[in-house]
Amino acid sequence: MWSAGMLSWISRAVPTVGSLSFPHCCPCLPSRRLDRASVSSSVRARKRDDFIQDLEKEFVKFRRQVKETLPGSGWSPLHQTPGLPPERADIVIVGGGVIGWSTAYWLKKKEAIREGVRVVVVERDPTYAKASTVLSIGGIRQQFSLPENIQLSMQSAHFLRNIQEHLNVLNEEPVDIQFNPSGYLFLAGKEQSEILEENYRIQRAEGAAVTLLTPQQIQRKFPWINTDGVALASYGLENEGWFDPWLLLNAFRRKAISMGVYPCHGEVVGFQHSTREMETDDGRSVSLKRIHHVNVRMPNSMEYQPVECALIINEAGAWSSKVAEMIGIGDGPEGTLEGTKLPVEPRKRYVYVFHCPNGPGLECPLIIDHKGVYFRREGLGGNYLGGLSPTEEEEPDSSDLEVDYEYFHEAVWPSLAQCVPAFESLRLKSAWAGYYDYNIFDQNAIIGAHPLVTNLYFATGFSGHGLQQSPAVGRAIAELILDGKFKTLDLGAFDFIRLFRGTKVLERNIL
Ligand SMILES: Cc1cc2nc3c(=O)[nH]c(=O)nc-3n(C[C@H](O)[C@H](O)[C@H](O)COP(=O)(O)OP(=O)(O)OC[C@H]3O[C@@H](n4cnc5c(N)ncnc54)[C@H](O)[C@@H]3O)c2cc1C
Repeated sequence: MWSAGMLSWISRAVPTVGSLSFPHCCPCLPSRRLDRASVSSSVRARKRDDFIQDLEKEFVKFRRQVKETLPGSGWSPLHQTPGLPPERADIVIVGGGVIGWSTAYWLKKKEAIREGVRVVVVERDPTYAKASTVLSIGGIRQQFSLPENIQLSMQSAHFLRNIQEHLNVLNEEPVDIQFNPSGYLFLAGKEQSEILEENYRIQRAEGAAVTLLTPQQIQRKFPWINTDGVALASYGLENEGWFDPWLLLNAFRRKAISMGVYPCHGEVVGFQHSTREMETDDGRSVSLKRIHHVNVRMPNSMEYQPVECALIINEAGAWSSKVAEMIGIGDGPEGTLEGTKLPVEPRKRYVYVFHCPNGPGLECPLIIDHKGVYFRREGLGGNYLGGLSPTEEEEPDSSDLEVDYEYFHEAVWPSLAQCVPAFESLRLKSAWAGYYDYNIFDQNAIIGAHPLVTNLYFATGFSGHGLQQSPAVGRAIAELILDGKFKTLDLGAFDFIRLFRGTKVLERNIL
């Protein structure tokens, strides 16, 4: 299909080629100029070479521009000022992390007509310096205790297995997220073994390929593990492992843009809304809000552009409660729906990188001991990643992303060495910190519409497991918006109203 923009380019490009004199370039054609004695043959040869070079350059330029204009590229006639906020959109997604871009992809995948739904993803930092997605360790597991979490990860694993079908883009490199299908191994002492078994039964009932291992079986399969104090383990046989989070984020982003999603570099700083008073069944008056503009501040500027829109999805990760506050969520009296805040906080988590040349090799799964200390291989050169989530009392200050190295020596290393004796001689190489998008209410996702802001949706609060759930969550929220209900997987348990009702949805396997 030839679009207006493309045709106008071609009409500009073709005369440039056509304006060169063809008879002049071809020595075998008789030309009036050939018999002019004043023009030497060497000058003619040079002119011909110059012409051929010019022609080649024009063709290269032409091929590139045609490629950029074809479906599958990021080009769209609507995007006149790439990156800047448009004046109007149907759906504005706040936050361009893996959840935001997965949602954008699914919205476009589900819509029937290209450009039928105009989706804009607003991201304030295209370097993603502090985004949880790129600072995560990339793990995916089926070993949860809540059926919803198990199903979310199973569906996401299915998506990742077929990622080429979903996220390949015409004329671009195939997607490769460098998946390591190495499984997760949860180790339990005597006190935790009953819970581990209970979780295992739930996982099996949901269809997850998980098995239980006795200490003897662990020893046979992983002889480098010290099983002293280990009573039981559960091991994921498929759909578990880790991948590169940046590659998944980028694959979603590239595909969504190729489908017509508009990426916008800017920060959401406020909303414009209208309010309507309503009376409840018990005679109480409540205000219903409807957002009609999202204010997007441009990079390095105090100015903002209001983007008129029909619907907003708050997918700002660890900062999503700040975005919710901009529209007054939680401003009302305590104990009311108006006073119910979005309970998502940035919680700092450290990831330590260590080296141990005689540590476990290719067969090494992601291991979590009974205290929650975890580690996994990073490549095959004797490098590993590991860490531990602090207790509520130990929670570090989250105002910066500084690393506490003492924490490794005091809390992490002793457990690593207990689990794998070879780790007694490990060397700490480096470390980083990132934010969990931590739901302080019940450490699970908050997905769905806000009951009082009628066109605002959330997908946030994943508390350390959002990356692996992103493919299925994006699909679920797209269904909720475009079909009016969850279709593939019922995520009603994760709605906002539970925060007001005080009904916690608890997951036992939070790391
Ligand atoms: C150390 C660590 C290890 C982890 N390991 C795993 C793991 O193994 N497996 C797993 O599944 N999960 C893991 N997670 C959790 C996972 O990374 C997150 O749950 C997931 O990435 C959340 O994605 P997101 O898109 O919601 O958030 P983010 O990736 O943080 O994206 C949110 C984006 O919103 C932008 N934003 C915020 N406010 C605004 C605004 N006002 N305007 C515009 N943009 C805004 C931010 O700049 C950011 O880029 C880990 C997290 C950490 C920190």
